[in-house]
Amino acid sequence: MIQVAGIDELRHHVATARNAGQTVALVPTMGCLHRGHRSLFAVARRQSDFVVVSIFVNPLQFGPTEDFDRYPRTPEDDAAICRKEGVALLFSPEPETMYAPDHSVVVEETSLSRGLCGAHRSGHFRGVTTVVAKLFNIVQPDIAVFGQKDAQQTAIIRRMVRDLNIPVRIVAAPTIRESDGLALSSRNRLLDHDTRRRATVIHHSLCAALESYRRGERDAGRIRRDIVSRIEEQPSFSVEYAAAIDAGTLEPVSRLRSNVLLAVAVRTGNVRLIDNVSIA
Ligand code: AMP
Repeated sequence: MIQVAGIDELRHHVATARNAGQTVALVPTMGCLHRGHRSLFAVARRQSDFVVVSIFVNPLQFGPTEDFDRYPRTPEDDAAICRKEGVALLFSPEPETMYAPDHSVVVEETSLSRGLCGAHRSGHFRGVTTVVAKLFNIVQPDIAVFGQKDAQQTAIIRRMVRDLNIPVRIVAAPTIRESDGLALSSRNRLLDHDTRRRATVIHHSLCAALESYRRGERDAGRIRRDIVSRIEEQPSFSVEYAAAIDAGTLEPVSRLRSNVLLAVAVRTGNVRLIDNVSIA
């Protein structure tokens, strides 16, 4: 596996792969890699010849009071995982490589990014679209793989490539969970033992909502209230939002139907966790 931190070096290796006729996939991550990331690498490997993984904790997508400094970083373990997963090139730039001190251009999606996480994390998605657009320009992949766990992010990236005519095919990969249902997340390791155990309530509340739907419940308001009350029964858990949204437009719906996502963001202590399930 090739490991680089510089853009010229990365471009050199990607060009060599392209000259050999290989197709290129990019999987952008913030590191602290887990089975969820690994599943994205496997999707990328199946659909391309040369898999590039980027690891960059992007300062631009963290608000001033958010967990940029606390965000877990495990560079050695990450490199070992990438090597084992057949990643061809690991790109781990320093912030100064990605952002000139006087950088002043951003990419902003102005519709899908307003609600849900965007309503609670001002500037977050502007940071995401800016860094992903930069990574697309740097790597120029054929495809890029994103997780459905971050459903809003994936929808925004799809919109960005559509609206800016970026020639990258976006592939969404399903959410990978622990055996007790908790969606894998780098932030899970910030939870203490007891909170981690109780965090299963997030997925269980969504499963209970799906079960209500199967029994005939269609009222989105009632379903949302049930999700909130179930999660907030747990001491120290508070729901930032619980939403029923159209999977494509991310617009709230009042009646449940297929192609609707039930999405939540939950705070416990100073950790924020998100999850969603889809009504088939
Ligand atoms: P992150 O490192 O958290 O920025 O995530 C990098 C990519 O991995 C994003 O496209 C996420 O949606 C995806 N991802 C994170 N957690 C999971 C998971 N549990 N299952 C599938 N994909 C995930």
